[in-house]
Amino acid sequence: MRRYNCRCGKKRYRNEQAALNAAARDQDTHGEEPAVYRCPGGLAWHLSAHGFTPEALPTVGRRLAYALLKGGVIKLDDFARPRRVRQCAQQMIGLRLALPTDADGLRAGDRTGLSRVVQIGLDGYAEEQSRPPAT
Ligand SMILES: [Zn+2]
Repeated sequence: MRRYNCRCGKKRYRNEQAALNAAARDQDTHGEEPAVYRCPGGLAWHLSAHGFTPEALPTVGRRLAYALLKGGVIKLDDFARPRRVRQCAQQMIGLRLALPTDADGLRAGDRTGLSRVVQIGLDGYAEEQSRPPAT
């Protein structure tokens, strides 16, 4: 079960807005706005001072999204955990985040959506998309 008290040792924020507010304060102080993301293992939100690195993205969905944003095209064989990689790839195609390539890979589709996946994870993104838009 996902919990607020995660074990990654980073400062926790209750929700996205609280994290964004903290990021804005950091920018005022240090001139660099940190990236805001949801903890891959929990419910809390964190700030990443140096942007995202693959090491900071322990879930397959986030890694694929990050690689797609960086390179535009990826080969599925280049990633560890093949079963999960293929599940995520199918899910990304279904969500129009990516398109399949002839060479057993993916090509970036919706870049805004991919950035969101890096922030909140693929399942979080799917959940967000299935919600009716706020009015
Ligand atoms: Zn955490």
